[in-house]
Amino acid sequence: MAPVSLFAVACLVGNSWWTFHNISQLVQATTWVEQTADIQLEVARIETDLVNAETGQRGYVLTALTDYLEPYYAGIRYADQRLVQLDRMATGHPAITAQLDDLETAVLGKFEEMRTVISLMETRGQIAARQRISLGEGKALMDEVRLVVSTIQGELASDLEAQKQQVALARTSALSALSLFVTGTLILVALLYATSRRELARRSKDSAEIAQYAQSLKSSLAELRRDRNEVQELIEAAGYMQSCDSVPELTRLLTPILERIFAGYSGHVYLHAPSRNRLDCVASFGGLEPAHLMAPTDCWALRRGQDHLHTLENGAPACAHHHGERSDTLCVPLIAHGDTIGLLTLIRQDQQDHDPADKMDNARRLSHMVGAQLGLTFANLKLQDSLRQQAITDPLTQAFNRRYLDAIGDKILAQADRFHQHLAVAMLDVDHFKQYNDLHGHVAGDHALTAVAHFMQTHIREADWLFRYGGEEFLIILQGSDADSARAKLEHMREAVAALQFTNGDIVLPGVTISLGCAIYPEHATSLAELIDLADGALYEAKAAGRNRIRLHEGRSETASVTGANLLSIAAKA
Ligand code: GH3
Ligand code: MG
Ligand code: MG
Repeated sequence: MAPVSLFAVACLVGNSWWTFHNISQLVQATTWVEQTADIQLEVARIETDLVNAETGQRGYVLTALTDYLEPYYAGIRYADQRLVQLDRMATGHPAITAQLDDLETAVLGKFEEMRTVISLMETRGQIAARQRISLGEGKALMDEVRLVVSTIQGELASDLEAQKQQVALARTSALSALSLFVTGTLILVALLYATSRRELARRSKDSAEIAQYAQSLKSSLAELRRDRNEVQELIEAAGYMQSCDSVPELTRLLTPILERIFAGYSGHVYLHAPSRNRLDCVASFGGLEPAHLMAPTDCWALRRGQDHLHTLENGAPACAHHHGERSDTLCVPLIAHGDTIGLLTLIRQDQQDHDPADKMDNARRLSHMVGAQLGLTFANLKLQDSLRQQAITDPLTQAFNRRYLDAIGDKILAQADRFHQHLAVAMLDVDHFKQYNDLHGHVAGDHALTAVAHFMQTHIREADWLFRYGGEEFLIILQGSDADSARAKLEHMREAVAALQFTNGDIVLPGVTISLGCAIYPEHATSLAELIDLADGALYEAKAAGRNRIRLHEGRSETASVTGANLLSIAAKA
């Protein structure tokens, strides 16, 4: 309770006590007055009773009729009773106790005298009774009674006057105390009313605040739940993304993942082409067809290196690659290790939504997380691809290396076996390459090797294989080629290599020739090692026969081009 209210209650308690005290005083004084008035009355009545008794006694003495004794006896009885009554009433009036004793003595004396007269009347007759009366004893006693009564009345009258003043005083005090009590009570009630109103207002404010707090708690909880769901979805999506082995596998997964994360949006994922002069669309979602390639300059996000939000209200320019889309759009660059590797675009579908800003903010927040994850995943997969490529390719010629041949050779054979296909295994060796190096330098030799490998690579089919077997030797596997077909293809390539021109910077380098030995699966052998051995043997024959030619296993001599190099070689051998 407030200190003011406590003070008011204390005042009211004090005031109540004061009012009670004054009213008690008033009641006491009033009772006193009433008792005094009663005593006055009783005293007066005693005198009357005695007069009545004396009148009865005289009537009896005068007439000798006993009927006159009736008032006598009544007066005696009443007076006697009143004396007893007065005795009781005078308890609280010590001032008149002595006078009351005197009155009693006088009254009892008068009784005695009257009884004496009546006794004389009865025993000795009227004359004796009259004589007794004429003695004046009865009158003297009656006078004494009157005197005492008058004294008591005087005393009581003055007492009564004083008591009336006390009553008036007590009434004034009681009235003042009562009005003070009423006023105090009213003030306290008003105070309590104001306090309780304030308390009620405070409580209703508190409950409004609590309701508001509860509401904000509820929406925070909903936000947390939504965030948790989003985080779970993102973690799940990240798990799938990280489990992908290659970029194509990842792009196949992206459509359903992005549709689940960006419900209500459509969009595309682009990746920079190695040339970095364009971006190719690798995934689309939200019902969109794959987009055409786009130039980096078509997107404000790529130009500014940060996400770009275009809404129908914010006045930000729309990106050209959205082709005048009449919706809110968001572009987020995919960045990994500080390098922009692609772009995520979002187009809002439900443009009539009532709370677009909030929704767009949420999509923007999500797109940052997804964009970061996508950027890293694409970069990692590209790195993996490149490491994998490096692990299986020869860095100089970009042909597959010997290690990869060991790993994949048996699988190639098994596949041919499954599809009942022929395989041509050809060993290729650059002729007189030591001499070439010696004459033109090692760098020129590298150029020659690279040119031969590149030519072979671009002139075999997708299903065929080119391995750098060692030094200036390559192994070619042609799928589905029997002896005739292989001979034709290899012969064509041999001729083309002999005619191949290549340069070292501005310097045009002399050409090289190649010799090839070839064995056919499954006619000549069924294991790769054997086939390689046979092809190597055939190659040896081709070399021995003068180089720049092809030999198929079984020693059959094939066409040989007689070039300047061949002639030189033959001359050298000779
Ligand atoms: P043949 O016609 O009998 O095959 O004679 P050849 O000189 O080509 O054969 P040889 O085995 O005597 O010499 C092979 C040469 O190939 C020796 C080596 O310096 C060269 N060579 C091997 N690998 C490379 C390479 O990566 N770059 C260059 N520039 N030369 C290489
Ligand atoms: Mg060799
Ligand atoms: Mg050689």
